[in-house]
Amino acid sequence: MARKSEKHSPYFNLTDAFKVQHCPICYLARRSVTHYLDGLLYERVTDPGTVASVRASEGFCEHHFRQIIEFQDATGLSALARYALEFLVQKLTQDPKTLRKKAAPPALCPACKTWNETEASYIGLFLENLEDPSFMFDYEHSFGFCMPHFKMIYPKIENETHREKLLKTQIAKMESLIKELADFERKHSYEHQGESYGKEADSRFRAVEFLKGRSDKFHERK
Ligand SMILES: [Zn+2]
Ligand SMILES: [Zn+2]
Repeated sequence: MARKSEKHSPYFNLTDAFKVQHCPICYLARRSVTHYLDGLLYERVTDPGTVASVRASEGFCEHHFRQIIEFQDATGLSALARYALEFLVQKLTQDPKTLRKKAAPPALCPACKTWNETEASYIGLFLENLEDPSFMFDYEHSFGFCMPHFKMIYPKIENETHREKLLKTQIAKMESLIKELADFERKHSYEHQGESYGKEADSRFRAVEFLKGRSDKFHERK
């Protein structure tokens, strides 16, 4: 097993992500998508590669178009939307029957592609380090994987002991959340008015993130 100092930066990106109060995979994938969109808008809007990928995907998915709007880069957004519209006009003019045919779906949204690649690479890295006690200690003290990511990771673990350990950690995190939620509800009730809140104060928001992750696109997955 390599010493920590010999490990490359994705390892540290992941262990650093264990320290944030979010699912580490969601956190890293979101960060990577934001970085990708930022770079795209800053210097690559007119690159032939950008034009080709935005045409192939007929723009971005709704979630990522909305994220691009938040960057407030008016001409960047305008150009990206124009590439997609120009491509569609060309396609529909050349072959109007395309709307009635079972046409091949457009390519995946480029930002979703970045999300998927980041997600896959960090899940792979997590699986490679299951036997590293300090790595797993850090994971066990993290926010934990959101349920969508847990369901992606758990079946990929071949070693039964590691699989059971991960499941035990997941259940412990869920039980601790359930307790916090119950405490919150109890303190919120009329007869406990005036009792001060502890860490359970934001448990409902953490519970939603734990259940659903932080990607608007999980619901789109089959
Ligand atoms: Zn997640
Ligand atoms: Zn997308």
